Amino acid sequence: MMKNVAVFFDINGTIIKRDSRTDVPFAEAVDEFLDIKDGMEGVDTSARSDKDVFMEVLENNNKEFSEELWNGFLKVYESKLEEFKDTDVWRLNADADEYIKKLYYEGYTLCLISGELSIGAKYKLEKLGLWKYFLTGGFGEDGLKRFEIADSALKKAKEERNTEFAEMYVIGDTVLDIKTARHLGAKVISITTGSHSREKLEKENPDWIIDKFSDIDFEL
Ligand SMILES: [Mg+2]
Repeated sequence: MMKNVAVFFDINGTIIKRDSRTDVPFAEAVDEFLDIKDGMEGVDTSARSDKDVFMEVLENNNKEFSEELWNGFLKVYESKLEEFKDTDVWRLNADADEYIKKLYYEGYTLCLISGELSIGAKYKLEKLGLWKYFLTGGFGEDGLKRFEIADSALKKAKEERNTEFAEMYVIGDTVLDIKTARHLGAKVISITTGSHSREKLEKENPDWIIDKFSDIDFEL
């Protein structure tokens, strides 16, 4: 039976293990498209939208952003995603798969909130066999900043289900995920497997902090 509860998942550091390899396709696309070397070095991608990151790289290289440049980059990025889809650059974080499937079969509405472009999110989550469990999401093309992306995710989910959700949860690995949950009026479960330490997360008072999904011993 469908529950009137929406659960919004972050991707990197939450569903996908975050390490230096996760961003390789994006980094290679940046270098190839701009004909530079190590263009992503020193650029913090954590909890940022892909477009925002791309703009910073352009600025670092004294180039002005244009939609034309962006669209050109997207083509190269897609070919990189295709090139890497059978490699192991994207791996499951903790026991995310079991928990996602469990919620899905119990009738929760599952959505994504990510700075990733939807095309990147789709490649990554299809590789892990998890894309199909998500109704919709807010992605890098839906806004430059996390709150805009989250608003878009919620709007799409409400439209798809034609309902106001009685309860909402955000699950993510960063302080920004906690702030995003507050912004949406959702409860938040912080997971310690990503960019931010338990100490750092605790300071923002998430409703729960977990190290793995099986730590969630309560009903959402
Ligand atoms: Mg994350």
